[in-house]
Amino acid sequence: MDAHSLYTLPVRAVAEGEVVGPRCPVCGVGQGRIRWVHGVPEGPEGHVARCLECGSGWSEPMPSAAELAAWYPPTYYGDTTGKFGRTLEWMVHCMTQLRARHLTLGLPPGCRVLDVGCGRGDLVLALAARGFEAHGTELFPVQKPGLEGRMHYGADLEALDLEPGTFQLVVLWHVLEHLIDPQATLEAARQLLVPGGRLVVAVPNLSSWQASLFGADWFHLDLPRHLHHFTLVGLRRLLERVGYGVIRDEHFSLRQNPFGWVQSTLNWSGPGGRNALYQRLQRRPAGQPPYLGAWATLREYGLAALLTPCAGALSILAALARRGGSMTLYAQRPIE
Ligand SMILES: [Zn+2]
Repeated sequence: MDAHSLYTLPVRAVAEGEVVGPRCPVCGVGQGRIRWVHGVPEGPEGHVARCLECGSGWSEPMPSAAELAAWYPPTYYGDTTGKFGRTLEWMVHCMTQLRARHLTLGLPPGCRVLDVGCGRGDLVLALAARGFEAHGTELFPVQKPGLEGRMHYGADLEALDLEPGTFQLVVLWHVLEHLIDPQATLEAARQLLVPGGRLVVAVPNLSSWQASLFGADWFHLDLPRHLHHFTLVGLRRLLERVGYGVIRDEHFSLRQNPFGWVQSTLNWSGPGGRNALYQRLQRRPAGQPPYLGAWATLREYGLAALLTPCAGALSILAALARRGGSMTLYAQRPIE
């Protein structure tokens, strides 16, 4: 199975799953109960347990590093020109520029900043363009003008050639949910920060309205690649356990949240199959036909256009209620 087709693997809810232990990897306190069963390529089905204390979820058991590597082909982020069509890529570019500005408000000019799991390096470049000494980490080599001397490759943050105590900002943008051991990465990030330095973590929010409403049909479950599914309570506890002071949480993401409503609604009710719209929006390798035929494409795009105004309004309301489909937490390494 091609790794891009993981988005179409079935997920089903289990009403009263078995209780598993030992302890929730997010809050460190509760036991888990199996809540979802999902397809895995070339293997038995996978399970997601949900903590009876903080509500966070995790893969049970965790996949091996080798299994995980097979789910991330070098084309996971698209080719050098992007993952989506030209218009969507332009919108993503604009949102990245805005994010670079927002994340660095109040930081001293020219300071060192790090984007962990930076993908194609777009945020690293946007931060560098704003005058910061920007660095990025990733698993695979990224060839892009402007990234020379800024990239550090490897799976373990603690093993990379980064000088401890020198970064004013470390960003984990939709990365933590993909890691086998998020606590280890948060601890390594803490070592890299200067005392008083800022950590920004963005993840899908399992305590969001859209996650609660759609359950197994929720777009941002993204199984089997997402290994952890954080609730706001759970992620705050994890950050505090690692020694961060949590400053605030934000719940609006133009890139993640309205689309989460649209695709989850289509997963629940639509005729196209799981995540068909998202699959259609991604650029296919040269020579391969589009994911959907002309009529199915028209149907998915038409339904998405009808749903989008409502999805936008719900995203604003959910953000005001701190129940956004994705959330961003700002934390600080305390000044000892
Ligand atoms: Zn928990």
